[in-house]
This record gives sequence, structure tokens and C-alpha cells, in this order.
Amino acid sequence: MKTSTRLINVGRKAKYTGTAVNPRLVRASTITYHSVDEMERAKAERDNYTQYYGRRGTETTFAFREAMCELENAAGAYVFPCGSAAINSSLLAFLGQGDHVLMVDSVYEPTREFAEGTLKRFGVEISYYDPLIGSDIERLIQENTKVIFLESPGSWSMEFQDVPAIAQVARNHGVVTMIDNTFATPLGNRPLDMGVDISIHSATKYITGHSDVMLGVASANERVWSQLQANSFELGHCASPDDIYQALKGLRTMELRLRQHADNARQVAEWLQQRPEVDHVRHPAFASCPGNELFQRDFDMGNGLFSFVLKRHDQAAMDSMLDGMRHFRMGFSWGGYESLILSTSGAGGTRKATDWQPAGHLVRVHIGLEAVEDLIADLDAGLNRYTAAGS
Ligand SMILES: *Cc1c(COP(=O)(O)O)cnc(C)c1O
Repeated sequence: MKTSTRLINVGRKAKYTGTAVNPRLVRASTITYHSVDEMERAKAERDNYTQYYGRRGTETTFAFREAMCELENAAGAYVFPCGSAAINSSLLAFLGQGDHVLMVDSVYEPTREFAEGTLKRFGVEISYYDPLIGSDIERLIQENTKVIFLESPGSWSMEFQDVPAIAQVARNHGVVTMIDNTFATPLGNRPLDMGVDISIHSATKYITGHSDVMLGVASANERVWSQLQANSFELGHCASPDDIYQALKGLRTMELRLRQHADNARQVAEWLQQRPEVDHVRHPAFASCPGNELFQRDFDMGNGLFSFVLKRHDQAAMDSMLDGMRHFRMGFSWGGYESLILSTSGAGGTRKATDWQPAGHLVRVHIGLEAVEDLIADLDAGLNRYTAAGS
């Protein structure tokens, strides 16, 4: 079955939909039984897709879990209230006092904060590695290394990792690998097929796709699924069936949306590359993006997120660009249908293993589904304001 067709069918078995097209939205805290036998059977089956108690999920949850498993070739998928909960719980499920985790230096900032805060407090040792390290990661593995955490690409610096190479090294050493795969979505690539143990998504982004839901999901292979599931449940994680329903809806149009986001983004990136204010564009399809050949090798499709570096730091000029944008609003997210823009002056600020200092401001754009001409005109006016305000 082609991916486009799979996306239409996943999670839509008759047991979830009844006679309707979509899986039913079932809200419940309490599941009731009419006989002791029925109750005992549900109890025995409670780790599978069986309703038992609201925290374990309802049919809506199971439909989404099944959909994600099919899309990622996973043994199981756990749904969390947000992407950060999915990431942090996955880490907690496999790390304890005295253990060591290797974390990619371009990691999503809140994941770094969790590592530096909670993980350190619980006696976990953390080291950071260069996103471009590849199989050389072997020399950083210690006796007590239990987890290698990946994110490819970093959502600001856009550095791509050699995921299969790192997964192979980890496997040779019995180390669990987990990846923040939010950028790729299950359509961009399937980390479990590349040897990674857990693939994690902030479903807040492209999966739900409309900037109105917080949701996370972690899909695991047979080797680690039961530990991930048991620990996540112990931590009390569950998500609202209403939100999960939105994720199921989002999946149906995700390929269509991603193709248009990617197409628009590519055109905007090519246009930006010609601008005199721009030092370089970090778009996955361009050689100026670190690890670009890994994107070409490992990804089936791109999306609307990329960054570019300006030639100089000029806060006043940057502000006058950002203040006047018509279509690009400022917002700490991406993956919805709308365009967004953010800037930062110090991408290398919190880095530990690598010292990347962009020439000028690093600007991240999420290219939405607006007409590309309107977006380019908006950026054109913005960069003109930037230049006019320049000192
Ligand atoms: C947004 C995001 C997260 C966190 O997801 P939430 O749903 O906001 O908790 C994690 N990783 C990446 C790359 C993200 O963009």
C-alpha cells in the first residue's frame, strides 16, 4: 500500500469507527462491567487495546496508537499530553541514578533543560555530542551509558545526524536510542526502520497541524516497548480523547499539507539565498545546510521549516523587520497551516560540545500554506526595512 493510501486507512478499523467514517470520539474516566467475568478479562488485557480505566485510554486513543504503530512500524505507541512529556518520560523510563546519557548538542532547548534539571537531580550524568559526529560517537560511550538521544535536524541549526550509523553503534553496545523525530513526521522517515528504538513526535506540530492542540507520541520497537509503556503509565501520562481525535483528523491531510509546505518553503529559500543581507540559508535541500546529504539519503519528504543566517548582528534592524510582517507572525512553534518567524542572536549560546556562532542573526521561518508570492513579498518588505534601519 502506498503511503498516501495508508494515511487514509490507519486507525480506521470498524471496531473504532462503527458505521461512521472516522473513529469515534469516546470520552471516559470510568469503564463499567456487567459481570465479573467481563471485568477479569478486561483486567488481563489491560496493557493491550482494551478499555479498562480512562487513564489507559479509550477507543479514540487506541485508534491513534494503532495508526502511529502502522506508520512507524512500531510494536507500540504511547500517547502523551505534549511532545515534551513524550521526550522526558521516554528518557526517565530508561535512565536512573548513576547512568549516563549522550545527548545531541543541537537538542530542543526544553529537552536540554529537563536533562540539566530533573535528570541531574536524579543522579544521571549527561554529555553532549556534535550533531555531525556519526559513528565516531563510539568513543564517547562509557561503561554506564544507557541512552543516546538524537534529534535530526536540530530545529534551529538544522544540522542533520547520521541516524543509522549512530543506531548501529548503540546497538553494538546495548545502548537504547531515542530520537525526537518531530521534524520528519512519520512521512519524512521511519527511525525504527533505521535501527532506533524509540521515535518521538510532538504531535502539536504537523500531525495535528492546526495550531490548536498539544499532544505527544512515542513509538517503540519490541525490545523496549513494554518498559516504555509501563513507565509512562506509572508517571500518570494520558491525553484527552478530544485532542487525540484532532490528531487522527490531522493525519488524513498530512501528506498533502507537507507537500505544499515543502514546495512553498523551497521557493522561499531559493529567493532568500539571492538576498544580499543573507549569509547563507539552512534549508535541508541546500548544500549550505550541515548534513544535507543525510537529508537526501534518509528523508522521503521535507516540510516548511528552515532557517537563514544574516550577515551581521543588528538588533534594531532585526526588530524593524519583525515588527512590520503581515503574514509571518512571531510564535514559538511551527507545523500549523500558518507562516511564522523568529530570530535569535546566539545559536551557540547553550552549546557544550560544539561552538557554532552564526555570522549574524539566525532567523527561523515556518512557511505556511499561504500563496508563496504573498510570503516572498512580505519577506522582501521586511528585509528592505531591515536594510533601511541598518546602522
Ligand atoms: C515543539 C517541539 C517539542 C515539544 O513539543 P510540545 O508538544 O510543545 O511539548 C519537542 N521537540 C521539537 C523539535 C519541537 O519542535
